[in-house]
Amino acid sequence: MLDIRWKAALYICALGIISLFLWLITSATTALIVFAIGLIFYFIRHLFWLNQLHNWLKKPELKTIPEGSGMWEDVFTALLHYERNNVQQQTALSAALERFELATAAMPDGLVILSASNAIEWCTPHAENQLSLNLSQDKNLPIVNLIRDSHFIAYLYNEQFDEPFKLTPIHQPERSLEIELIPLANQQKLLISRDMTQRDKVETMRRDFIANVSHELRTPLTVVGGFLETLSDMEGAIPANLKTYFTMMEDQTSRMRRIIEDLLTLSTLESKTESPDDHEINMASLLKSIQNDAIGLSQSLKKAPLQIHLHVDPILSIRGAQEELRSAFSNLVSNAVRYTLAREGTNNKSNDIFISWEPQNGEAVFSVRDTGIGIAQQHIDRLTERFYRVDRSRSRETGGTGLGLSIVKHILIRHQAKLEITSTLDVGSTFSVIFPKSRVVTTSQ
Ligand code: ADP
Repeated sequence: MLDIRWKAALYICALGIISLFLWLITSATTALIVFAIGLIFYFIRHLFWLNQLHNWLKKPELKTIPEGSGMWEDVFTALLHYERNNVQQQTALSAALERFELATAAMPDGLVILSASNAIEWCTPHAENQLSLNLSQDKNLPIVNLIRDSHFIAYLYNEQFDEPFKLTPIHQPERSLEIELIPLANQQKLLISRDMTQRDKVETMRRDFIANVSHELRTPLTVVGGFLETLSDMEGAIPANLKTYFTMMEDQTSRMRRIIEDLLTLSTLESKTESPDDHEINMASLLKSIQNDAIGLSQSLKKAPLQIHLHVDPILSIRGAQEELRSAFSNLVSNAVRYTLAREGTNNKSNDIFISWEPQNGEAVFSVRDTGIGIAQQHIDRLTERFYRVDRSRSRETGGTGLGLSIVKHILIRHQAKLEITSTLDVGSTFSVIFPKSRVVTTSQ
């Protein structure tokens, strides 16, 4: 098929040849007139098809594309192919969009797309239901006008989206939602809302169950422990051959008592929703008393001598709940004592524990470094799980409950602090607690 340019050139050439021929057999005037008529006809024909194209472009539909003639037939055929492709792509795109909408509508989580200025661009029906939105009315409105929760607004503007946000919708206070924000390209955000009502109910039931069981066990255990203690104190009440069994019974009851106390502490911490106290803590005196307790513990274990070193930055302090932090730091220090003395006899190393309290890049760091048995790398990530112990029998021998680090973790979460653990087997471990700048107080001496 000839190119459009060739077709145009062919027409002009043919017109020229005919005019030339006429000039030869008639006159130049006749030839010029014929040439002019030919050109006018050519021009009018183009104008006609250009007008057809212009009309079609006003309402471009596949079935109304003009057929055209001459070179215009080629133009309209190319347009037909282009339009047909377009329609096919549009159909495929609409089908994909429909599938996407069906899938997002079937998702139990709600999705909202927020613009760079946090206005609602699009959301799924579940998001409408969970967040009491109405896309047709609320489109392009700032989400902070519709979710009027000051903590949510702070979460949105702080742009720290590592942790999800818990939201109780104002209009549905019985509901509990988890909100996750994911930054997208062009400074847009994807908001995912998840209904946690059912999961929270089960979690509360689990917590209540553990708290109730622990409470119920505490009373009979106190009675049994009391009787055992009285009997042990009574001269001649226990025959000499039964003495070892009595000691074992006493040890086991006090172990059970410790487990129950730790379980109760954990469930109390878990059920606390309010923020911890915001009092400035006298770290020097708190850590001194923890050091003294650790010395007492190491002496009571009656093993090898142990040096406990304390280094405190006197002008560095934090705001927090003193008793909770005492419990967390004591747990870490008593672990250091227990798992350093557990190493006794395996080599001739000296037994040292280094407790420090120092600033670091504007944050405050409490750390306990021991020279104990150490922890193999594969266990480190799991240490804060309840009852996770590297060596069950060693934990029991040293008086552990397997709950100490879980308690530490909960206290630290409440204080927005992080726990970092580094350890080398048979060399020792370092447990560091990093408090955020927002909790740090630096006093001038
Ligand atoms: P436990 O009461 O058994 O010590 P924790 O929750 O306090 O329970 O600690 C969990 C486990 O982590 C311990 O059983 C022990 O295996 C390990 N661990 C904790 N602290 C130390 C430490 N300083 N050195 C070596 N192992 C440790």
